[in-house]
Amino acid sequence: MSDLIRLDNLTVTYERHPAVHHISGAFRTGSLTAIAGPNGAGKSTLLKAIVGELRPAGGSIDRGALTRNDFGYLPQAADINRRFPISVADTIMLGAWKNAGAFGRFSRQDAERARDALSVVGLSGFENRHIGSLSAGQFQRVLFARLLLQDARVILLDEPFTAIDQRTTRDLLDLVLRWNNEGRTVIAVLHDFDQVRAHFPETMLIARELVGWGDTQDVMSPANLIRARAMAERWDEEAEACLPDDELAEGGLAKREPAE
Ligand code: ADP
Ligand code: MG
Repeated sequence: MSDLIRLDNLTVTYERHPAVHHISGAFRTGSLTAIAGPNGAGKSTLLKAIVGELRPAGGSIDRGALTRNDFGYLPQAADINRRFPISVADTIMLGAWKNAGAFGRFSRQDAERARDALSVVGLSGFENRHIGSLSAGQFQRVLFARLLLQDARVILLDEPFTAIDQRTTRDLLDLVLRWNNEGRTVIAVLHDFDQVRAHFPETMLIARELVGWGDTQDVMSPANLIRARAMAERWDEEAEACLPDDELAEGGLAKREPAE
């Protein structure tokens, strides 16, 4: 498998405070990767940088020939406004915007594909429901239907199963595995380590910096998980040591080197 997205010494900051830091490596074409790490580790920040919502403060992301339309991105639930007065059908159709004409008109085929997508996620007949009236699991099914319609080569999911019922998790996980079987590259932020070990061949473990990236069984070792936890606790206590890239280059990083 060839490299699809390369990160080279990537640093992403919020107002000069690094959220992820000096990350290098590659997602290969057709790979299925989990991103794991403690709260505040920079997982969501990393996904936003990969899809181009945030610009690197240092280093680079090489997306090769991929364009914005090649990415299907599901943000973390907390980032999605469900009070927006919109129907299930319209929410899904927004996934097809790239196929719409200059005046944003959807084709009959798009409408058919939207119906098919709803059926795949088990929500046939929900077209006219207001998204605010759905359960968390049903809403997540709608967002997956939208991804289906988007038909992207690269799919990024930010905690897709957090606060989602077991049945829905199983159904949507099947869909994720199917996407990968179709040759799509899938990257998912997950917090259920058993699920990661069972279904995701590769894992990126981060605690703002990279702890490990590669074969899941190697990366998710007890030693690495302890190390990630220790790194997270360390920066919680030493927030003032969180320096921007240029100052870190001058030796600031040494202060936050994790204890072995
Ligand atoms: P994770 O998804 O791993 O929990 P995030 O990427 O959401 O972590 O956040 C990484 C760090 O960046 C955290 O310290 C968080 O508080 C901070 N952060 C996230 N979003 C913003 C923002 N919009 N403005 C400032 N700081 C942010
Ligand atoms: Mg997050």
